[in-house]
Amino acid sequence: MNLSSLSFFRSHSKGNKQFAVIGLGRFGRAVCSTLHNLGYEVLGTDIDEKRVAQAMTDQIAAHAVQLDSTQPSALKEAGIFEFDTVIVAIGNYLQESIITTLNVKEAGVPHVTAKASSEIHGKLLQRVGADRVVYPENDAGCALARSLTKPAILDRFEVDPENSIVEVLVPEAFDGKTISEIQLRSRYGLNLLAVCANNKFEVNPGPNLRLWKGALMVLIGANKNINRLPL
Ligand code: ATP
Repeated sequence: MNLSSLSFFRSHSKGNKQFAVIGLGRFGRAVCSTLHNLGYEVLGTDIDEKRVAQAMTDQIAAHAVQLDSTQPSALKEAGIFEFDTVIVAIGNYLQESIITTLNVKEAGVPHVTAKASSEIHGKLLQRVGADRVVYPENDAGCALARSLTKPAILDRFEVDPENSIVEVLVPEAFDGKTISEIQLRSRYGLNLLAVCANNKFEVNPGPNLRLWKGALMVLIGANKNINRLPL
C-alpha cells in the first residue's frame, strides 16, 4: 500500500488519464516515467531539445515536445491547455516556473501541480494559482529522518500537520495479542483501519483478531500518539 497515493484523490478526478509534464529534469522525468509505467498517457515538454530527445529515447512518455513554457502561444500550440492535469516540474528556474504556472492557470487548466524548491517559491506558486505545490527535496529529507528514527513506520500520509495515517510493522509488544487486548483506542488514542499479512488487507478488523510480529497495521491518529507506540 502506498499511502502517498491517497493525496492524489484530494484534487484529481478518477477518470483522468492524460498528463502534461513541463520540465524534464530529474523530478519531471520521474513523474513522466512513473505515470507512463502506470499506463497513463503523458506528454513531456522541455525547452532543451536534448532533454526532449532523451525522454523519447528512454520511452518515459508517449509524446515529448520542445517548447518554451513561458510563451502562452507555444503551450497552446502543443495542446497543453487541453489537459486536465499539468505538472510544472521546473524547480531551479524561479521565473520560468512562476510564469509557466500562471500561463496554464490563466488558460483554465483545472489541476496544476507545481514543484517548489523553497518556501517563498511555493508561496509564489500558490499566488499565481497552483492547485497543489510539492516540495520533493524537503519531503525526501523529512521522510529520511523519520525512517532513520522510526524504521518500523513504513509509510505515512499526513492528513494535516498534526494527524497522520501510518503503515507500521506490528511491534514485539503486540505479538500474539488481540486488538481488544492492546486497547489501541483507549491507551494510544489511535484507530486501526486495517491489518495486512501476505499482501492481503483486512479492513476494519474485529476486536478478536490476533496480531503477530511481522504483520502490518494501518493506523490513523495524532502524530504525538503515533510516537508513543512501542515500535
Ligand atoms: P533536478 O533535475 O536538479 O532535480 P528539477 O527536476 O527541478 O531539478 P530543473 O533543474 O529545475 O529540474 O529543470 C527542469 C527542466 O525545466 C530543465 O530540463 C529545463 O531545461 C526545463 N526548463 C527551464 N525553463 C524552461 C522553459 N521556459 N520552458 C520549458 N522547460 C524549461
